Amino acid sequence: MSQVRYTVTMDDPNSHLFHVKMEVRGAPGPSTDFVLPAWTPGSYKLRDFAKNVQDFSAGRQTWRKVDKSRWRVSAGGDVTVEYDVWAFELSVQTSHLDADHAFINGASVFMYVDGLKDAPLTVDLRIPKGWKIATGLDRRGRLLSAPNYDLLVDCPIEAGTFTLRTFKVRGVPHHLAIHGEGNYDEDRMVGDVRKIVETEIQILRHVPYDHYTFLLHNTTERGGGLEHLNSTALQYPPGSYKPREKYENFLELVAHEFFHLWNVKRIHPDMLGPFDYEREVYTTLLWVMEGFTSYYDTLVPCRAKLWTPEKYFKKMADRIQKFEDKPGRKRQSLSESSFDTWIKLYQPNENSQNCQMSYYEKGELVGMCLDLEIRHRTANARSLDDVMRLLYGEYGKQGKGFPEGEFKKTCERVAGNLDRFFADLVDGTVEVPWNKYLGYAGAKLEREPKRPEDGEPARKAKAWIGIGTSKAGGVLTVANVVEGSPAWKAGLSAKDEVIALDGAKLSADDFEKRLDDCDPGDKLRVTLFRSGYLRDLEVTLGAKENVTWVIRKAKSPTPAQKRIYEGWLWSKWETKKKS
Ligand SMILES: [Zn+2]
Repeated sequence: MSQVRYTVTMDDPNSHLFHVKMEVRGAPGPSTDFVLPAWTPGSYKLRDFAKNVQDFSAGRQTWRKVDKSRWRVSAGGDVTVEYDVWAFELSVQTSHLDADHAFINGASVFMYVDGLKDAPLTVDLRIPKGWKIATGLDRRGRLLSAPNYDLLVDCPIEAGTFTLRTFKVRGVPHHLAIHGEGNYDEDRMVGDVRKIVETEIQILRHVPYDHYTFLLHNTTERGGGLEHLNSTALQYPPGSYKPREKYENFLELVAHEFFHLWNVKRIHPDMLGPFDYEREVYTTLLWVMEGFTSYYDTLVPCRAKLWTPEKYFKKMADRIQKFEDKPGRKRQSLSESSFDTWIKLYQPNENSQNCQMSYYEKGELVGMCLDLEIRHRTANARSLDDVMRLLYGEYGKQGKGFPEGEFKKTCERVAGNLDRFFADLVDGTVEVPWNKYLGYAGAKLEREPKRPEDGEPARKAKAWIGIGTSKAGGVLTVANVVEGSPAWKAGLSAKDEVIALDGAKLSADDFEKRLDDCDPGDKLRVTLFRSGYLRDLEVTLGAKENVTWVIRKAKSPTPAQKRIYEGWLWSKWETKKKS
């Protein structure tokens, strides 16, 4: 039987180089192809990890590269190769080695043998003295093992001097390996993570792992998370656990990545596992995989009582407003955006706002609408939770992906025909009738005049120019121009460096304030550099309604609305007492 053993050494962590020795037994031959993935599952972008490989050798055997990620050794049987990997990118999709720690994201370090991805593997991780290891892999000391390549690269490895916290839920250990420090109360944070774990298990009703590991990097390098089968990698800025609003973002990140252990790691269309690591894989369902996970990442902490239904409504109202503000929502549907993720979402440009929306953002909102629609049709007897449990029971738990069409069919088994819902909100770009869905739960989206800040006059509308900006290097640079906006009509362009307004010097930080001093309809002379040449443009400012979007509860709900509200948010409908 074939077997693969990796020995990973990191003798000089400051070089940021992992040395990998890969010993293969029983390769069928006559030649053996060694391949390093071009992407890592969960992050739909080609990263061509082979670009970080150097000093490849195959002992006495000859070898040659046959494509960008593939090395062909002219021998079969027992074959040993060695190579170095430069690991100097601390993100959840890449690997990193320095004097403080090692973070191995398997797809960027471990090659596989073409045709032998199902062979069992071991990793001998030779770490510096005093370091320890955290990973979702089974391990004995520094010896890690996986039954196949897919599992190996689905378990990132952290080695270093991290803080380890462990708690049990339903008898199963959950580890939190924390690299670096942050401005949190550690006990409280661990307690909150635990509540999220408990609540999500309550929703899916099954624990499919023997142990789960959160790898948390406190770092300013990057942010975000990446989901895995029985672990996740999370990155968060060390100073951003306070104030409360920022801490809530961290809790959403935890809830998001943990929910993925079901949704996308086990519940997924068949294109998303086992994977083709060499090229893009296409699905129209990332709005379910990512959008629904985002839906639950905000709903779950509410159900876990980490925030109130009022806070939940505030978050959703903000997200609806943000979504409605994006012109691209009228151009790109959820299914299109999912399919094109490889060339669009992960590679935004100056035009993205005008022609795209994010399947995370709209997927989350459509998830909410679908949940409320199901609850409405079934008098709250069924919900989106049932859809997730059905797909999990019939596919995820069995280790199978489902055909693309199966998702809609499963929703319809729970709710009845959903042709219109999918045509409008998933494959189409029609306006979302928010209040139709929110109304099922006795809630309503409203636009309220923004309260003026101290000393400010109350204004119905504010001057609007319609650009996104960046302030890098103290220069106000146009990042994007909203289609049809005053800036667009005046000929402003992305990359323009704005240096003066009405002849007076503009410092980057003053832009919002200077704009705020104007009224809708004012003419503004904008002086800018474009490709190194000075020019003036005149912009006639437009008007933007000065409103905040809020979701409020009805004063007197029907029993049906009340039932849906309570089933949805796991909270009693409470009427505010008059004070
Ligand atoms: Zn996600």
